[in-house]
Amino acid sequence: MHTIEKKAIVKNTSEALFEKAKTLFPGGVNSPVRAFKSVFGSPHFIKKGDGPYLWDEDDNQFIDFCCSWGPLIHGHNHPQIRTAIENALQLGTSFGAPTRKENDLAEFIIERIPHLEKVRFVSSGTEAVMSAIRLARGYTERNYIVKFEGCYHGHLDQLLVKAGSGLVTFGESSSAGVTEKMAAETLVLPLNDLQALEDCFANYGSEIAGVIIEPIPANNGLLLQENGFLQKLRDLCSEHHAVLIFDEVISGFRVGFSGAAGVYGISPDLATYGKIIGGGLPVGMYGGRKEIMACISPDGPVYQAGTLSGNPLAMSSGLAAVSLCAAPGFYEDQGRRTQFFVECILSHTQSKAYKFNIQQIGSIFWLAFNDGSVIRKAEEIDPDMTPFKMLHRALLERGVYLGPSGYEVGFVSSVHSEEILEQAAAAFIDALDEVFAG
Ligand SMILES: *Cc1c(COP(=O)(O)O)cnc(C)c1O
Repeated sequence: MHTIEKKAIVKNTSEALFEKAKTLFPGGVNSPVRAFKSVFGSPHFIKKGDGPYLWDEDDNQFIDFCCSWGPLIHGHNHPQIRTAIENALQLGTSFGAPTRKENDLAEFIIERIPHLEKVRFVSSGTEAVMSAIRLARGYTERNYIVKFEGCYHGHLDQLLVKAGSGLVTFGESSSAGVTEKMAAETLVLPLNDLQALEDCFANYGSEIAGVIIEPIPANNGLLLQENGFLQKLRDLCSEHHAVLIFDEVISGFRVGFSGAAGVYGISPDLATYGKIIGGGLPVGMYGGRKEIMACISPDGPVYQAGTLSGNPLAMSSGLAAVSLCAAPGFYEDQGRRTQFFVECILSHTQSKAYKFNIQQIGSIFWLAFNDGSVIRKAEEIDPDMTPFKMLHRALLERGVYLGPSGYEVGFVSSVHSEEILEQAAAAFIDALDEVFAG
């Protein structure tokens, strides 16, 4: 058993940097969740990462389970990815003209993911989703998009919507600056609800351009869907000629090389990617059936472009990352080590009958403060995040870094060895004992 050292965290440098940052950026950050508003304290400014570890500006060291919110499936500063970027760097950073590296990454992926016949690279997950939504509308010449409550698809206007009251509802804007008119062309349904899905298609089937879903919703807890629900969605989209879009920005290359589509054996018409596909540099991608992709400019009438799309540094980093993922047994090993980690923690918390559970698939895990029943819908999550906040601080004091929000999932990388996971599990157990001692 590992001995766990608890220590008060010194973060004078991070605090000074955060004060400065607040004069430069709204909330002191360039993406809101980084501000630590959902947990105690202020953000750690990170100096470097190596393997499974992070160091902040005050030289506190942490085992990292945030992994840059998912991209770093091979941990920080992986030697093969670093070398690929260094080699590309010798040749220049951007040309605004096609390069061999775009072909190489696209071919590597298309050869291995059967439902991707053609793809296009962009620079973020949001951009991939935005483009896929426009494409679904352009291809079908219809207006409505269906999304599910509890799924996040980036910050495009049309999907910053929440459900109104009732089962099948037109979206209500969930952000200032998103007009009700924009939100009104998005229908919002609950996850894992067959009746709502059937009602929606019965009422609006001929007007639905596309349906977008995180097949493994992992941005608002980890809301594992029943296979039958996803299959029904596939069937209804086919029947009504609506484009089924799997948003695999988290699940793609994470739960298997072919993402959730591969795990469930269900093929979407289009899929969107981000995070892992760039190996830590900004890459997004969308792709799917070739007759749909033929609508994209310059082949077709749906406009989409990008100055830095297919950037050679990012393509090289991405190819190194997905090549490592394609190694035989990679995902089995990821799942096995993550399960070992989760079981280490749960065997303790169950013996103590703590109101705590961990939902897991592959190398994604989510901490649920509940009695152990499986949570599949956003509204089933207990909104009281106090126990998570306490755990988050207790873990920092024990050298473990989690994403600073109880709605976010954790990620295990290929360099989180069994040894490191044992040590992290011991820290979790010690921290949970403190939280539940009140
Ligand atoms: C992270 C994420 C996005 C947005 O990607 P960005 O690169 O942050 O724009 C979209 N969809 C899902 C499922 C995501 O997890």
